[in-house]
Amino acid sequence: MLILMKQEASKADVEKVKEKVKSLGFSAHEIPGAQRVAIGITGNKGRIDPDLFLSLPGVHDAVPVSKAYKLVSREVKAEDTVIRVKDDDIGGRALTIIAGPCSVESRNQILEVAEMLREVGVRFLRGGAFKPRTSPYSFQGLKLEGLEYLREAADKTGMHIVTEVKDTETLQQVAEYSDILQVGARNMYNFSLLERVGEARRPVLLKRSFSATVEELLMAAEYIASKGNYHIMLCERGIRTFETSTRNTLDLNAVPVLKKLSHLPVIVDPSHGTGAWDLVIPMAQAAIVAGADGLIIEVHPNPDLALSDGFQSLRPDKFRLLIDRLKTLGSFMGRTVPSGVATPISTEN
Ligand code: PEP
Ligand code: MN
Repeated sequence: MLILMKQEASKADVEKVKEKVKSLGFSAHEIPGAQRVAIGITGNKGRIDPDLFLSLPGVHDAVPVSKAYKLVSREVKAEDTVIRVKDDDIGGRALTIIAGPCSVESRNQILEVAEMLREVGVRFLRGGAFKPRTSPYSFQGLKLEGLEYLREAADKTGMHIVTEVKDTETLQQVAEYSDILQVGARNMYNFSLLERVGEARRPVLLKRSFSATVEELLMAAEYIASKGNYHIMLCERGIRTFETSTRNTLDLNAVPVLKKLSHLPVIVDPSHGTGAWDLVIPMAQAAIVAGADGLIIEVHPNPDLALSDGFQSLRPDKFRLLIDRLKTLGSFMGRTVPSGVATPISTEN
């Protein structure tokens, strides 16, 4: 159920509604809007009687929410969610570009990539330290050492870190070092991890499982939101279909569908979505035209030597070309693309 407050409702009126929700044994989620505050109710098994709320001061309406996901739905919040990470917004007019290698491989590698990305204005640095590899014999990531190198590279360049949290055991460590927690495709159905990430005070990049429907992705996001963390980006990264000419099938339909069903920012990953570096630029462009709020792109200084996903990683020159193309496309779409050096390089070390 969603409680819509009157425009003139006071803070005390909102608190009264929240107290009433809690007294019934449910959870209350305050959702600020441009016109009015709404309060989402979760934790109820059956129908809630609207009359319990309609008589309270400041309440405009009490409407049942029909979907299995509520807090992340447009039904509950009409305006787009904008997530602020320090000085940068995700989901606003500026496109969010997240870039970096699949895995952090060495201090030099991540520093070199970070410097290059910063020069073209990228604000979000990706790189896996805890890698969920399909084969137990593949490179598993540098773990804590990788987090340390990432932090150093991000601090030197003034960027924010996006890195994967693989399990609940390492969540606290990853959250300590990073700015945005990535939940990978393989973990989209790991409900206990989703709940723990919902308790962490860090924005989340939630990747769609290769076998998930759009609705299942939204329900996974709801697990996070139901624990009080509403700062979630939904990431389309390709799904498994009968098609074998690409690693995955990048489902760009999902972009306008997600924008219709949810207020959360949508990010597209054309690197995993195609599995081929030469398909990344065309599909990245297509994603922006489809209405994505940003991209996550694998970039490696020497893809032939990469310890993971080199075949789908862009070399720096191709990445620069992509950014140039996005500038042109962005202006058609009414979006801006970060450009040039954004923050002076720290002179320490
Ligand atoms: C990654 O971003 O490197 C990754 C492992 O992605 P996914 O979970 O989408 O496979
Ligand atoms: Mn990868």
